[in-house]
Amino acid sequence: MNAPYDTPLDEVRSQIARGCKASRRKPDDITLIAVSKTQPPERIEPLLDQGVRVFGENRVQEAQDKWPALRERYPDVKLHGIGQLQSNKADDAVAMFDCIHALDRSSLVKALAKAMDKAGRRVPCFVQVNIGSEDQKGGCAIEALPDLLGSARDADIPIAGLMCLPPAGIEAAPFFALLAKLAHDNGLSGLSMGMSGDYETAIMLGATHIRVGTALFGARD
Ligand SMILES: *Cc1c(COP(=O)(O)O)cnc(C)c1O
Repeated sequence: MNAPYDTPLDEVRSQIARGCKASRRKPDDITLIAVSKTQPPERIEPLLDQGVRVFGENRVQEAQDKWPALRERYPDVKLHGIGQLQSNKADDAVAMFDCIHALDRSSLVKALAKAMDKAGRRVPCFVQVNIGSEDQKGGCAIEALPDLLGSARDADIPIAGLMCLPPAGIEAAPFFALLAKLAHDNGLSGLSMGMSGDYETAIMLGATHIRVGTALFGARD
């Protein structure tokens, strides 16, 4: 841990403040999502004690195993589903998550809309964009974005904004800038982008939601 900071959370908060200052933004406008995937409850509790209330999980099953007990003690927790979602998990995802970051195809629009109708609860979704046009990555193709947004709106799914995971190993800034442009062109203000290695850059390029795991919890196993 770096000397001037008491906790990793302090360090992350000060880096958020730095990115905000440089881009004339307000820290209150940035939602820090603490990515707690693979972390056991005893690693999550210290962050809850420090006031963090927004967490990200990438697997529905793992969230179901860990969070009901924690939520009993911290009922104001918000859980964000950040991982690829199978259509057959839509009901569980709608029940468990307050926001879903991985809406990336029309079959999932249909499954989520049906699940939301059944549950009587509309869960805001970020549309994930395959921003680096990588074959192996999830996310909708850039060319397919307007159609997907249209079908999500037709299905009455609240759109929170756009989300991306830029290609690994190269500078992320151009991809963040492209996602911001796509959001702007489509009249969307939410931008879920930036992880432990690049969230300050993402904030300077307009991120409203940053997904930070390693910088808060240390390396995952
Ligand atoms: C794991 C994960 C993160 C967090 O990554 P870190 O580098 O540990 O901060 C963010 N977003 C998604 C989609 C993830 O799966």
